[in-house]
Amino acid sequence: MSANQVRVRFAPSPTGLLHVGNARTALYNWLYARHHGGQFLLRIEDTDLDRSEVRHETQLMEDLRWMGLEWDEGPGVEGPHAPYRQSERLGIYREHTERLLAEGKAYRCFCTQEDLEAERARAVAEHRPQVYSGRCRALSAETSAQRAAAGEPFAVRLRIPDHPLRFHDLVRGEVEFPQETVSDPILVRSSGMPVYNYVVTVDDALMEITHVIRGDDHISNTPKQVAIYEAFGWPVPQFAHLSTILGSDRERLSKRHGATSIASFREMGILPEALTNYLALLGWGAEGGTRETFTMPELVEAFKLERVTASPAVFDFEKLHWMNRH
Ligand code: GLU
Repeated sequence: MSANQVRVRFAPSPTGLLHVGNARTALYNWLYARHHGGQFLLRIEDTDLDRSEVRHETQLMEDLRWMGLEWDEGPGVEGPHAPYRQSERLGIYREHTERLLAEGKAYRCFCTQEDLEAERARAVAEHRPQVYSGRCRALSAETSAQRAAAGEPFAVRLRIPDHPLRFHDLVRGEVEFPQETVSDPILVRSSGMPVYNYVVTVDDALMEITHVIRGDDHISNTPKQVAIYEAFGWPVPQFAHLSTILGSDRERLSKRHGATSIASFREMGILPEALTNYLALLGWGAEGGTRETFTMPELVEAFKLERVTASPAVFDFEKLHWMNRH
């Protein structure tokens, strides 16, 4: 792999159908990779075992292929085009947790639910941000190891560094979170299951992702992820957070606004070329123009992240239908 190669990923959780917002995220990642001659990875984020279902994963992959968004790489276990799955990588996360604990970058937290609720209630009463006090931070390595060996349940938390956490966003510019608003995040729950912010960072780093392009609902997670990169001493990728998609009433697009899943568009006879053309223009525009029709190769040629807008886009079903007829 060349040092400057663009590597991006689409990382859906298989908990339901692929909708407009995520489909646009997948498309922008794919266009960015193809524009730069880079790689596009598919990673199924299925660590939430109660909500993840194989049928959603299967449908999701079928929808991506129907849209023309083939991915380039996978672990190769089931052939070249199986995606990465987080549920198959738990051993990798465990090894990394051991490393952070051994280096003192993370610590075991023995606080119970009741302890944490009492802390939160105090913070609310005193009008303070509801962040974890960090009381298990002070436990010595010896005490912590003894309590763990005695079978006391614990979560693993990261030590948030003592400085503000900032990152440069390719869509929004500089984003900074004051240190006192970020708790020491939980990396692994007391059940032993690692959490989203942790696994996403380990995977993005190990998969050598250069650009993380995703929905802006993840902005508040990003400082925690930046802190995890720092703890491991890994380079931080570039981030691009895409604006929310709204319905015609300017509320966040949801089921209330009618059919918004790719599966439902397919059933209605929407063609993949019309859908990708429409989704590409939902928050992006080609240089110097009001042009509205693009083939996939033309989109690949024209797509630039600098032309992605930070303001929310409004989903217009009539327009999608119009594009389908032209
Ligand atoms: N599984 C997360 C989601 O579907 C991925 C977010 C990310 O791209 O980091 O929202």
